[in-house]
Amino acid sequence: MTNILTGISASKGIAIARPYLLKDPDLSYEAVEIDNVSSESAKLKSALEQAKIEILVIQDNLKQSGANEEAEIFAAHLMLLEDPELISAIEAKISEEKVNVEAAVDEVMQSYIIMFESMDDEYLKERAADIKDIRKRVLSHLLNKPLPDLSLIDDEVIIIAEDLTPSATAQLDVRYVKGFITDVGGRTSHSAIMARTMGIPAIVGTSNASQVIEADDMLIIDGSKAEVLINPETNVLKNYQSMLEEELRSKEFLLKYVDVPTKTTDHVNVNLSANIGSPLDLEAVVKNGAEGIGLYRTEFLYMGSKQAPTEDEQYEAYKKVLETMGNRPVTVRTLDIGGDKELSYLDLPKEMNPFLGLRAVRYTLQETELFRIQLRALLRASVHGHLKIMFPMISTFEEFHSAKQLLLEEKSNLKDEGIQVSDDIEIGIMVETPSVIMMADQFAKEVDFFSIGTNDLTQYTFACDRMNENVSYLYQSHHPAIFKMIEKVIQAAHREGKQVSVCGELASDTTAQIVLVGMGIDTLSMNASSILESRAFINGQSKSDLEKVVEKVKECTMENEVIELLNKHIDK
Ligand code: PEP
Ligand code: MG
Repeated sequence: MTNILTGISASKGIAIARPYLLKDPDLSYEAVEIDNVSSESAKLKSALEQAKIEILVIQDNLKQSGANEEAEIFAAHLMLLEDPELISAIEAKISEEKVNVEAAVDEVMQSYIIMFESMDDEYLKERAADIKDIRKRVLSHLLNKPLPDLSLIDDEVIIIAEDLTPSATAQLDVRYVKGFITDVGGRTSHSAIMARTMGIPAIVGTSNASQVIEADDMLIIDGSKAEVLINPETNVLKNYQSMLEEELRSKEFLLKYVDVPTKTTDHVNVNLSANIGSPLDLEAVVKNGAEGIGLYRTEFLYMGSKQAPTEDEQYEAYKKVLETMGNRPVTVRTLDIGGDKELSYLDLPKEMNPFLGLRAVRYTLQETELFRIQLRALLRASVHGHLKIMFPMISTFEEFHSAKQLLLEEKSNLKDEGIQVSDDIEIGIMVETPSVIMMADQFAKEVDFFSIGTNDLTQYTFACDRMNENVSYLYQSHHPAIFKMIEKVIQAAHREGKQVSVCGELASDTTAQIVLVGMGIDTLSMNASSILESRAFINGQSKSDLEKVVEKVKECTMENEVIELLNKHIDK
């Protein structure tokens, strides 16, 4: 009988291989009282130095293999190793409490780990993994017990670990490592992010994979189902082998779409852009032939640190994205915090209905100092590429006017300071509320572009919380009501010569693409890994055929009729 483990899918796809059971050396030590403080301090210094050298080597290897973005993760490790607060806390423990260096390192780092793990913010919680990684590395040097070197693997394997540290993940060679499975972790952990970037399937948070899986087991990872099949029966294995072959064939086939334009058979162009959360995603963006960045969710920049990122830190991130994209457009969304996205250091109010409360532009218009810092960083970065700025969750003209006013004020402040700012920045809004749709004709005269956020638009149209399972049956993103709203925006924009994009999840859905392209959408912005498949699909469609489907969709009264109609078109 096949044994099935479930977890959280960190990265989709199928992998079939034997396990590589990753076990750390025994890093236990005895806590003893010491009397020679300086010899313990010297040991600390040398262990930190050795750890630093090791990380620099990992970083260097990553850079040499072109994985510059992954290499940046280790900048955070180096910073931790040099963090004066951390080092002096360890030294104080040694000199004041007279404990040996192993105990001092362990206790101080554990307290940091606990602090991060107890944070409400999911992203910050995951950062505890970085400190665990550093703790392990420093202890391994103090105890002289080297950590396993994953870069030496030269057999096809699936890595099994209780937790996979970011540095271990960075050592994986995708020619041999077909996937990984861990007991702990979530979708936002670094290892999960790196798995998606490396394009290998991974399941995290299985809770007991490292205890259940044995060295001679045969494993299948089904990334889409978030399942691990242990010792599958022959027919199951055969099935998965052919699915894997099909997956590889289709990946190979899709590669021919990297450098071709997205164009229907009757020559109508559509721009396929990528949604990103950080400059770390750029490698996948370039690899998948994105024609721009349609949505840069800047809140991840704010979630990644203990305090709000400075103007310079933000400037560097925006500059990096703009420079990488060259003359392709980069649409940056200003901070969209609130709703389900919290920030421990911002002290957002606890509200009864956070999705209907102080979120996104509503918040930044109240916290104008925070907002101005982001706007200045964006304006300064604007000279490095083709920048478009958009405000999230606009519901009235007043909000748009106030946000634009702040942007223009900062632009003139920067110019007064002698700092260059591009004069070609486009200023647009996210369309996520029905009020903006009803006023689309008027908005179209004032904005430079619209970007429809169907994730939120769906929840606000059907008055159903997008996180609430009890009302998920109402979350009908393919409902004719949604498509009619989108059409109204497209028509209003085109009458004024403005462009419209869809950047919600609907954009990557091939059935929805039939309607969106049929209605004349200009840009579809999606997860980079969906771009090639979408391009292959759209390049096989004729716009005039899609227009006929649109007419039928508009006559439907229910979502399931629409879905049936669209599936029928695909099966034709
Ligand atoms: C949306 O609402 O569709 C959107 C793209 O924004 P987010 O998912 O970040 O709220
Ligand atoms: Mg949204």
